[in-house]
Amino acid sequence: MDCLFCKIVAGDIPANKIYEDELAVAFMDINPQAPFHALIIPRQHLATLNDISVEDREVVGHLHWVAAKLAADHGFADDGYRTVFNCNRHGGQTVYHIHLHLLGGKPLGWPPY
Ligand code: 5GP
Repeated sequence: MDCLFCKIVAGDIPANKIYEDELAVAFMDINPQAPFHALIIPRQHLATLNDISVEDREVVGHLHWVAAKLAADHGFADDGYRTVFNCNRHGGQTVYHIHLHLLGGKPLGWPPY
């Protein structure tokens, strides 16, 4: 499959992986927008949030569980952090394999434009 993040899951493209389990893989973003910026992705290929079926709800919820665990493991859960899914053009999605951004390590601006 011609998907960048599927290739990272498979180990065909290198990434700084920080977490893996049977459902998800997390790795550091190549172009970080905060002191800590990781991407948490499902092993299965889902192009956008619009492609999630009823059966996929568990894996999408699991990505948020991984985000909270990583925030705790990396010591910024209490200070806080942001999780973001971008969807399609207006959402700013550039890689079409869903990924939960986890940003932390500094106060983050809002709104995000
Ligand atoms: P999007 O804009 O689709 O929500 O986010 C895609 C993210 O993937 C961006 O933050 C971008 O920096 C990151 N990214 C793109 N290509 C690579 C790559 O090859 N490796 C890693 N680690 N991150 C990537």
